[in-house]
Amino acid sequence: MSGRILVVDDIEPNVRLLKAKLEAEYYDVLTATRGAQAIEIAKEAVPDLILLDVMMPHMDGYEVCARLKDDPRTRHIPVILVTALDQQEDRVCGLEAGADDFLTKPIDDVTLMARVRSLLRLKMVMDELRSREANGRAMGAIFSQTPECIDIKGDMRILVLEDDEGQGQRIQQKLGAGYATTLCWEPREASALLQKNTFDLFIVNLAARGFDGLRLCARIRSDETGRLMPILALVDPGNRDRIVRALDLGVSDVLFRPVEANELAARVQTQIRRKRYADTLRKSLDDSFEMSVTDQLTGLNNRRFMDARLEDALVRFSRGVETTSVLMLDVDFFKAVNDQWGHDAGDRVLQEIARRIKANMRAIDVGCRYGGEEFVIVMPGATIEDARQAAERLRAAVEGSAFEIGQGKPPVKITISGGLAQLRDGDTAKRIMARADACLYAAKSAGRNCIKSDEKDSQAA
Ligand code: GH3
Ligand code: MG
Ligand code: MG
Repeated sequence: MSGRILVVDDIEPNVRLLKAKLEAEYYDVLTATRGAQAIEIAKEAVPDLILLDVMMPHMDGYEVCARLKDDPRTRHIPVILVTALDQQEDRVCGLEAGADDFLTKPIDDVTLMARVRSLLRLKMVMDELRSREANGRAMGAIFSQTPECIDIKGDMRILVLEDDEGQGQRIQQKLGAGYATTLCWEPREASALLQKNTFDLFIVNLAARGFDGLRLCARIRSDETGRLMPILALVDPGNRDRIVRALDLGVSDVLFRPVEANELAARVQTQIRRKRYADTLRKSLDDSFEMSVTDQLTGLNNRRFMDARLEDALVRFSRGVETTSVLMLDVDFFKAVNDQWGHDAGDRVLQEIARRIKANMRAIDVGCRYGGEEFVIVMPGATIEDARQAAERLRAAVEGSAFEIGQGKPPVKITISGGLAQLRDGDTAKRIMARADACLYAAKSAGRNCIKSDEKDSQAA
């Protein structure tokens, strides 16, 4: 993995040493010896990761970190604080300033590289999400507020896997009442609980004798639902190999045993904040996708979505899997509704037509608003006879009861006309749509409030 790393330390030889180590691993390295300078470089060059010394004159590492995390331009760059002191309070202080991780001097190369790889990987995923979200926003498909600051109040659910009941309960106590903590003792039980996907964080004891926590982590990461679950691993400080393996397997963070309450709290918060942020981005992407294929007035699918489904149907037909029929509908004398009762009344009629379409469709049918007061229903697997029955049912359902068009206005009687066509050998989407359209025209000519189908198809059926 490549990446651009900014190394910040007020002592030149330290900078040179770290730079050499990182360059040996083919990272692109930038350097700074002062806090203010580091902030400038971070804003301009936007590195993928910052290694930040804590003890510096003028502006210490905590403050630099806090400022970086306060600025939207640099907020998303992971920061590893490097400190000579291995005091728990310092770590907590740093995590509270928004640091993503901690290393103590003298820096152990193997651990350093594992942390660097882990954070760069995380940043890649987040960058991808953020850029897709930004694109969606630029294209006008996302209207929600940019989720810059994530509020992590509310129900925070944590699953803890331990092999020792006493230790499990101590962790639960240290986490405190702010979290809904579930304890379990068995990897299989943990897997099953995680499958339900309702947890914000999974804490696993990698030093457990009763089970192989690393194996479980690997399995979680290879699973669709577990891929995005933050995992905090508890390890013994001396067990460097295990720490490195854990990070390389995709564990989100490691915490040394015995677990200190404040550090636990700080790391847990970091993980949950990250997850909530990623979830928000993903949700907003899903919504924008949903919106891009949905007609806003009626909630039916739009033409773009229907075109794609029809192409699928053509492929299935050409492979001999199944046939498909298409019903094209048009509201009769709709202009008169608008003219007499106004555009809003017209909109209400279209919404109610959509509701009746949905109520009369099978789950696999694709109903869409084709434009104006025209609708199309793609019916996979339906012969023209199946489709004719469905179309008749819908036509009758529209005619059957008058439409409410708003307060103070009388319900209006509405009818629809429809044209039906079934796929034929050598068809294209354009051809079948043209046949359905021709049939619709025939239905209008025949006096409306009726369904006409492609003659050749009807004979064949
Ligand atoms: P026909 O039976 O021949 O289909 O007659 P019609 O009046 O339904 O057909 P025409 O094509 O003359 O008129 C369609 C009208 O639908 C004209 C247009 O203003 C209206 N319309 C199209 N889209 C909307 C919409 O989103 N909302 C409303 N209220 N009206 C719409
Ligand atoms: Mg019409
Ligand atoms: Mg029309």
